[in-house]
Amino acid sequence: MTAPLETTADVVVVGAGLAGLCAALTARWSGASVVVIERAPIEERGGNTRFSNGAMRAVYAGVEDIEALVGDISEAERARADFGAYTPEQYFDDLARVTEYRAHPDMMDTLVNRSRETMLWLKTQGARFLPLYEWQFKLPDGRVKFSGGSAVECNGAGDGLSAALFAACARENIDVHYDTRALGLIEDAQGVHGVAARRARQEAIYRGKAVVLACGGFEANAQWRARYLGPSWDLARVRGSRFNTGDGLRMALDIGAMPYGHWSGCHASSWDFNAPEVNELAYGTLFKRDDYAAGIVVNARGDRFFDEGGDIRSLTYAKFGRAILAQPGQIAWQIFDAKGAAQLHGEYRIRQAAHFAAPTLAELVGKLEGLDTEKCLATIAAYNNAIRDDIPFDPGRKDGRRAAGLAVPRSNWALAIAEPPFEAWAVTCGITFTFGGVRIDTTGRVLNSDGAVIPGLFAAGEMAGGLFYFNYPGGAGLMSAAVFGRVAGEGAGALANGS
Ligand SMILES: Cc1cc2nc3c(=O)[nH]c(=O)nc-3n(C[C@H](O)[C@H](O)[C@H](O)COP(=O)(O)OP(=O)(O)OC[C@H]3O[C@@H](n4cnc5c(N)ncnc54)[C@H](O)[C@@H]3O)c2cc1C
Repeated sequence: MTAPLETTADVVVVGAGLAGLCAALTARWSGASVVVIERAPIEERGGNTRFSNGAMRAVYAGVEDIEALVGDISEAERARADFGAYTPEQYFDDLARVTEYRAHPDMMDTLVNRSRETMLWLKTQGARFLPLYEWQFKLPDGRVKFSGGSAVECNGAGDGLSAALFAACARENIDVHYDTRALGLIEDAQGVHGVAARRARQEAIYRGKAVVLACGGFEANAQWRARYLGPSWDLARVRGSRFNTGDGLRMALDIGAMPYGHWSGCHASSWDFNAPEVNELAYGTLFKRDDYAAGIVVNARGDRFFDEGGDIRSLTYAKFGRAILAQPGQIAWQIFDAKGAAQLHGEYRIRQAAHFAAPTLAELVGKLEGLDTEKCLATIAAYNNAIRDDIPFDPGRKDGRRAAGLAVPRSNWALAIAEPPFEAWAVTCGITFTFGGVRIDTTGRVLNSDGAVIPGLFAAGEMAGGLFYFNYPGGAGLMSAAVFGRVAGEGAGALANGS
């Protein structure tokens, strides 16, 4: 038997997504030596972070704050857009409301109040940002009005963000060991002292004064999904990394960490029915189907089951996947007429899409296999009749143009499905990440189930429970990974330095 590979560093970081890389860089800047271990091979590195759209939700006081992140905004761009502002109060309010007032106040506080400085810090690490013009309100004069929240995206989306941070780690001489799967924590009564791992086909021991677990949730583990999220969740498609199978959570729970947050909850959205079981980097976000507000969505019984215009997309899309999963066959169809289809984003048009088109509604629904066509046509007719035509359609705000008196409400932007040709996309549930995690304190330290600190153990990113419940405001996943990654890095660095 060969002896295990032994590596020693002040701080051992598990997982090379945004949370792990932010933790690694922050600990390194405090003077600590750092090693990162990553389960994926180098070609597939980057976790969910790399799959992401790169939208980030941070506080900003106005266009100057956005300019500080993206560089000069030209006069033409200023004329084209009303950038508005996103105050800490708005951020708290959005987060509290969509999580049904369950988000932990301390965690909200940290996320909101450190969001802006963390964006500026990411820029110093080489991340590049652009104004996020997509998903904002479209004004009648062709201008864009920022709807608050995610005002910037990363240049090159998640791939660009990930590449920038790996480059920063290389500059700081932080070793990343790929193909290295953490299996368990090395601990005793004094606390955590390292990680037992398997590197390629060899056992490997990583010893450190502090360990940061940043290795994602359990979204890619079908068995755990069924166990914790409930029946049929094993059938959800995975939108991101295949490596986030809950290893870090298991390792922490094995030594007594407190499970925390919404263990039966997750971020899941509308995802093309033709998407693979588990996503691949080559597809990125091409299977996302988030333009449901431009049409209506029906299940196999021909019924609507979700308010497609309940709020702006960034505050509704992360709970839509769960609604679809609850439908017969875990399938639904988004149906648009010509004017709705004209609003769709480019990814709807990819060759692999589960897409159908026809010159009449009757012909279109006839093509949707498994759908109760009679009922569907009746649903569309009832919907069209219920639209309050007296309220003007206005994509520049929540316009209140609703379909009144239906069993399933339709609150905004209702337009009749009437103008040929007609198009439909079959969709299912795509899971993004799970909300259940371990309990951390304000310095990122993991607490045990008695509420006491587990010395030497930190957690960040998807692994930290307590921030998201039921739903999620778009752009907060990356922000939370970056903010809590830095918090954990500061804590681990301080511990390694003896303070
Ligand atoms: C398709 C998609 C689009 C998204 N778009 C956005 C967006 O626009 N804005 C936004 O805010 N959020 C978005 N998100 C969510 C966001 O990507 C995540 O919230 C965030 O990236 C989580 O970061 P993390 O570092 O916690 O996890 P990850 O980035 O997933 O990193 C975890 C890492 O741990 C590794 N790992 C797992 N197990 C082990 C082990 N045993 N040993 C060693 N390593 C291990 C994994 O391989 C992975 O590299 C999106 C997610 C997806 C999937």
